Amino acid sequence: MILLTFDDSINTESWAVMKEILDAGLKNPNGCNIRTTWFTSWDATSCPSVFEYVSRGQELADHTVSHKGYAPIDEISRARRLCVQCTSLDESEIFGFRPPLFQHAPWTLDALSVLNFSYLSTNTDSYTNFGSAEKLGNKFWPYTLDYGMQGECTAHCDYSARNPGLWSISMNSLDEYRSGANLGMPLQLMDPDLSVTELQNLYWNNLLLHYNGNRSPFGIWLHPSWFKGKPERITWLIQFLTAALSLPDVWVVSGQDVISYMKHPIASGTTNVPFVCPQTSSSPPPMNLPRPSAATPPLPPPPMQQPLPEPQTTEAPLSQPNEPSIPPLVSHSSHGEALSIAILWVLYQLLMF
Ligand SMILES: [Zn+2]
Repeated sequence: MILLTFDDSINTESWAVMKEILDAGLKNPNGCNIRTTWFTSWDATSCPSVFEYVSRGQELADHTVSHKGYAPIDEISRARRLCVQCTSLDESEIFGFRPPLFQHAPWTLDALSVLNFSYLSTNTDSYTNFGSAEKLGNKFWPYTLDYGMQGECTAHCDYSARNPGLWSISMNSLDEYRSGANLGMPLQLMDPDLSVTELQNLYWNNLLLHYNGNRSPFGIWLHPSWFKGKPERITWLIQFLTAALSLPDVWVVSGQDVISYMKHPIASGTTNVPFVCPQTSSSPPPMNLPRPSAATPPLPPPPMQQPLPEPQTTEAPLSQPNEPSIPPLVSHSSHGEALSIAILWVLYQLLMF
């Protein structure tokens, strides 16, 4: 599994980068479009761009409102509400959280548990494998925090803390790979400032380390700003993903998909996967997209319902025991009486003459 994530604000400029990648038409082995995750902060985010991203079936995740490190619960919960206000998503469909600047504390993890997030994705064990050549390509698989944080932590960590059921998707590091020597050292985790040729060497070698290693999810962790003024990087990324997807059993998925796989793992070679197959939504955007800083306007009242007319029927009711029936204007007995009177009148006339 390749996990391609973007961080920070979604706006016209950053969405244009992601859109170009999604428009390349890259497909997973089951024929579905690839899927990505965007950890969104709201300091420069615009709702229409968020809506366009989500309308492509991509995963929207939480990165606080104001890109705040060691975020209190309010920063996380308000960011999730903004995700909902800009889209037709439910809060329960915002699964993931990435702490800005990798700064998380025990209260951050407790907030995720209280708010029922599914996973945390941060650099928990990025540098665990430093100097350990035999561990190259054998990075951490996602794990739950039932037994606390594993690996090396560069933030405020309490290894005795427990958050049962909350998953950790580690941002595994890229290792320098020297062919033949098999020596490695961790490099910059995100946005390596390299030429296209260097990028290709670094990412392809690391992908193969994962592929031939324990196949833990391979992360491509990027900021949209990394592409600014470097359109060749978009071209490179599309070509890299195209080549990667030509390998058997390689999928480009979201964080949510990774967790689904962890809960329902499958054998290699099958395409019956628990991944979301993203479809482009044709529904129009909400009419009144709220501004991130604005209070949510109350929903308008539903339109008044006009009472429907009673259905007209020619059938008589089966029975109405409490309703007296309306008598007919002329009864059968009245017809009989009128006939008898007429006969008597004729006989009287005959007797008289
Ligand atoms: Zn960030």
